[in-house]
Amino acid sequence: MSFFKLNNLLSRSLVNRSCLKPHYLTTSFNLNRPLSQDHHQSNSSNEKISNLSGYHVSNGPSFMRGTVWWGQPNSPLTIEDFHMPIPKANELLIKTKACGVCHSDLHIMKGEIAFPSPCVVGHEITGEVVDHGTHTDPGIIKRLPVGSRVVGAFIMPCGNCFYCVKGQEDLCEPFFEYNRAKGTLYDGETRLFLRKNGEPVYMYSMGGLAEYCVVPAHALSPLPNSLPYTESAILGCAIFTAYGAMRHAADMRAGDAVAVIGIGGVGSSPFLSPESFVTGLMPFLFVFLLEWEITGGMGVDIAVEALGKPRTFLQCTQSVRDGGKAVMIGLAPTNVIGEVDITRLVRRQIKIIGSYGARARQDLPKLVKLAETGIFDFNSAISRKCTLEEVDKVFQDLASGSIVGRAVVEIM
Ligand SMILES: [Zn+2]
Ligand SMILES: [Zn+2]
Repeated sequence: MSFFKLNNLLSRSLVNRSCLKPHYLTTSFNLNRPLSQDHHQSNSSNEKISNLSGYHVSNGPSFMRGTVWWGQPNSPLTIEDFHMPIPKANELLIKTKACGVCHSDLHIMKGEIAFPSPCVVGHEITGEVVDHGTHTDPGIIKRLPVGSRVVGAFIMPCGNCFYCVKGQEDLCEPFFEYNRAKGTLYDGETRLFLRKNGEPVYMYSMGGLAEYCVVPAHALSPLPNSLPYTESAILGCAIFTAYGAMRHAADMRAGDAVAVIGIGGVGSSPFLSPESFVTGLMPFLFVFLLEWEITGGMGVDIAVEALGKPRTFLQCTQSVRDGGKAVMIGLAPTNVIGEVDITRLVRRQIKIIGSYGARARQDLPKLVKLAETGIFDFNSAISRKCTLEEVDKVFQDLASGSIVGRAVVEIM
């Protein structure tokens, strides 16, 4: 089997271009705000704005900054002051250290996928635990104590629904019903409120592009000191999604030839190095394809589509061998339909499999362990690092196709 060097021509040519203009409404942020009452004594869901200003992290601020998308397609993100978000039972308040910049966020900001606004995007985080919600399970507090380093998965399982109980927490019902559909956590409420007027701001996953975020405990895994905050952020979406696709959807086996169509953060991450998935999995042959002809007519065992475009959806199904698996991980704008050669699908047993993320409780700790062995080449996966103030520009560059790989925002 031949090995082919991947290139990004296809993904570049297919990424839409848009003309976002950077615009910031930066307000001052004072870390030395007066402390007030303990939220643990007044944390019911009926209390809103009046008590929000009273919550603060230990010896820390009662406000934070976060980026806001206001709901107009392609409108700029602004930086706003928020009341410090208050975690509820079995949720943790995390001081965000890093957050990846993902095409899924861009789909929201372009208006291609419906999401409530205003909202804070960003769903690929690392950070430090600063508080637990009232009545949080003692086991969670023991596993993830204040001060511990964590990485968060973008699918935040409730732990209790039909799918979570079955171990298919990448299908968690409350996650899709509340977070993806309504921009809230699983009591139907957001944790984000603007400082200036108390208005609610919705959360895409945990709303990671902010100085603090509230994350359900099931989405978090401890992050050892040996792993850096910035680079490890991509464990929570790019690598997480790739792992789910290869491990759960494709059920990749030793010797499988794999093609990837679309090389962004997710598309490139399973293949950061050929050894990446050996530990706990199996070695596999490593083939990057952009054209069907390269396979010599046979096709690959597994093809992965990471762009969510009708053309590449079809190419993905055409790239696999008879009996092969076409795994779709690229989100498309709402109502976009893909086509497939029906007779070939039937006669030649082509399998088309959708995959969205992975299973946070099972898989994220495994990915952390894999990362500890040093087999993920974070340096080649992460092509850019920036500050919170630069986020809007980074999204413009992502939209124009000039970011290959992953950009990560450092929020220290
Ligand atoms: Zn993502
Ligand atoms: Zn669930």
